[in-house]
Amino acid sequence: MKPKSIKQRLHLIYLEDSPMDVAIVRDILEDEFELDFVSVATKKEFENQLTTSAGFDIILSDYELQGFDAREALGIAKSCCPDIPFICISGTIGEENAVELLRLGAVDYILKDRMARLVSSIKRAIQEEKEKKKLDFAQQEIKEQNKELLKAKQKAEESDRLKSVFLSNMSHEIRTPLNGILGFSELLVISNDFQKREKYASIIRESCQQLTQIIDSVLDISLIESNQIQLTKTDVDLQKTFSYVHTMLSPDFERKGIQLVQNDIPNTNYVLFTDERKLTQILLNLIKNGLKFTNEGYVEFGVDETEKSYVFYVRDTGIGIEDAERKVIFERFRQADEGSARNFGGAGLGLPISKSFVEILGGEIWFKSKPGKGSTFYFTIPKTQE
Ligand code: ADP
Repeated sequence: MKPKSIKQRLHLIYLEDSPMDVAIVRDILEDEFELDFVSVATKKEFENQLTTSAGFDIILSDYELQGFDAREALGIAKSCCPDIPFICISGTIGEENAVELLRLGAVDYILKDRMARLVSSIKRAIQEEKEKKKLDFAQQEIKEQNKELLKAKQKAEESDRLKSVFLSNMSHEIRTPLNGILGFSELLVISNDFQKREKYASIIRESCQQLTQIIDSVLDISLIESNQIQLTKTDVDLQKTFSYVHTMLSPDFERKGIQLVQNDIPNTNYVLFTDERKLTQILLNLIKNGLKFTNEGYVEFGVDETEKSYVFYVRDTGIGIEDAERKVIFERFRQADEGSARNFGGAGLGLPISKSFVEILGGEIWFKSKPGKGSTFYFTIPKTQE
């Protein structure tokens, strides 16, 4: 026995006021399709069906209807469901009307005495609609991809620009201490004055420290970029860490005439399980920035506690940060104002390194600032570590 072929499902609406014509069309289509056939005779019924029933595959319509015609029906169909193909079935309406209908968006026009064409016309219209949808989808995807590509291109260009700025900042940053080392070591060789020689030696030592610091920052950034940061967590006594930071930085503060205030730790048994080197480096970076961007007043640092985390803060009475610059200062190689930051020196690496370290330790970093009044940087270290 020949297997029964599976018929294609067809959900159609037929706008026709002659029951005889409805019966003929239904008869023709039933042989070919698994029909879900909706027949309507008036404009109102037509509008109702189109707005309330979902997903017709095709609209068939007579030309002359009660009080309106296929042009108007087509207008209604195009405004509420423009993707459903519309075929007009009618006696002769003249070439001009037929062409006008096609121009307005009907996909075909079938004469009632040529109904043999109906099935193939419907199949073609549905196939074309499917292909149009596929094409629309592909075009949409291409548009999205183009948007993504454009974004990636802009990002690459920006990152290229930032790296160039970074390189020029870096060479400036490296040249400054190097010049100090070269110049003062020459003076050291020729000078016999003990006091002067002591001063030159201390400048050379300081310049070496600056160079080491720059190299450390570049190494840190490259480890961060290649995801190779290793954590070594131990019990860290905050009192000791704070004292170390204070002792390390006090001479720099004294030299600039700015006070460095270490606030008391609220709980004397502050022992925290974290990476001590990273925590110390974050504090040093933030406090050094405080010193760098403060010409008068003080920098204070301390820690508070919430239920879930320790909240460290570094507050200064310095130049502050403009609103427009808020977003960029944690970005690699960025300085709030690439021009004026040159006056203060720095490679734009301290905050990105601090942010990466804070995040690796499971916390967050942010700041509050008022231009001209000062800034406070905060970061958290969670109490429960993974
Ligand atoms: P830099 O080496 O330039 O200091 P950072 O990454 O540490 O690099 O800081 C980036 C920029 O953020 C600085 O150049 C400066 O513009 C701004 N900034 C950071 N900390 C402060 C602060 N305490 N006060 C004002 N501006 C700051």
